Amino acid sequence: MKKRIYLDNNATTPLDPRVLEAMMPYLTDKFGNAASRDHSFGWEALEAVDRAREQVAALLGAEPREIIFTSGATEGNNTVIKGLAEMYADRGRHIITQPTEHKAVIDPCRYLDKHDYRITMLGVDKYGRIDLNELRDTITDGTILVSIMHGNNEIGTLQPIAEIGKICKEKGVFFHTDVCQTFGKVPIDVQEMGIDLLTLSAHKIHGPKGVGAMYVRRKNPRVRPKPLLHGGGHERGLRSGTLNVPGIVGLGMAAELCGRDMATESKRLTGLRDRLRDGIMSGLDMIFLNGHPTERTPSNLNLAFAYVEAEALMMGFKEIAASSGSACTSASLQPSYVLRALGVDDMLAHGSIRFSLGRFNTADEIDHVIERVIAVVKEKREISPLYEMAQKGIDPRKVEWKVH
Ligand SMILES: *Cc1c(COP(=O)(O)O)cnc(C)c1O
Repeated sequence: MKKRIYLDNNATTPLDPRVLEAMMPYLTDKFGNAASRDHSFGWEALEAVDRAREQVAALLGAEPREIIFTSGATEGNNTVIKGLAEMYADRGRHIITQPTEHKAVIDPCRYLDKHDYRITMLGVDKYGRIDLNELRDTITDGTILVSIMHGNNEIGTLQPIAEIGKICKEKGVFFHTDVCQTFGKVPIDVQEMGIDLLTLSAHKIHGPKGVGAMYVRRKNPRVRPKPLLHGGGHERGLRSGTLNVPGIVGLGMAAELCGRDMATESKRLTGLRDRLRDGIMSGLDMIFLNGHPTERTPSNLNLAFAYVEAEALMMGFKEIAASSGSACTSASLQPSYVLRALGVDDMLAHGSIRFSLGRFNTADEIDHVIERVIAVVKEKREISPLYEMAQKGIDPRKVEWKVH
């Protein structure tokens, strides 16, 4: 096989060698338990964890003690949603979210729905953005939490987080946002954006898998979700279990590296993303952009290729790693639930591919991808009778087919 090109960075990213280097001592000599107070092995582990807490907090405008380390964003989202629901059940049993969230938000909400909570799914427009007036009107006295992600993992659309935070503050409800796709890529400030809880994951920013963090506000207002895990009372009692010191050190380093050149890297990724979009669109007709044209994460390009199947295309360019739907749902052959929520029709949803960029992608790779994608789409369309009809101006979806 030719050299492989990885354009699935919204699913996971390669570890940055500098992150690995920072982690190494904590996988070898410095193996101490950060909770061991009686000797230097414990102290050096704790010191490393404290440094990572500062590195993560610095990128969020948070205080280090408001950062709680977890095993990733799935755990973080579960803790926030189920933990708040349990803690504040006497205040109300209503939660507001949106249909385009990651499954790690949707499924805890579904679980609560079966346990006497009420979940409202806000509508989203054709770009995947919620309506702020609808949000305002949906909040009731019984609402305890609004959970709306910052950047969408499939379509890249950014939500107006600061405006959402403001509405939640006015109404006195907690605001949680999953920032897996924006942390380290787009500026985030928990004060300016009125965020009460936030969840993130290291492996989306060139850190290791199996580690993440939550931001849990300590004042104005103080938030206390019930923990999922009970035990030794680590992490302010919010997450018991021996800390994953090498993982946490890796997350801290990954965050610091993102923070160092966020502006230039974001510009570089946006440039590559637009080069890919323009290159593909100038070589082919009937290609549509999924998600918002401008309000989107720098790394995400999601294109609908009319009259071809995404899976068939990707079999045609096996050296390029991209994704049809999101990695979590592509095992089933259902069209993506996110594209459905946007009202993208089934034919286009089946022909949609997400290309997501990362730190190690180059312009040369993008140019290769443009060339290969154009060639494979042309090849598949050549044998597509539907494409032929469409070119003659007939919409195959409006034809009444006769079955003989
Ligand atoms: C990857 C991702 C998650 C899940 O994070 P894990 O750390 O893999 O559990 C949750 N939400 C979003 C938006 C993601 O992109």
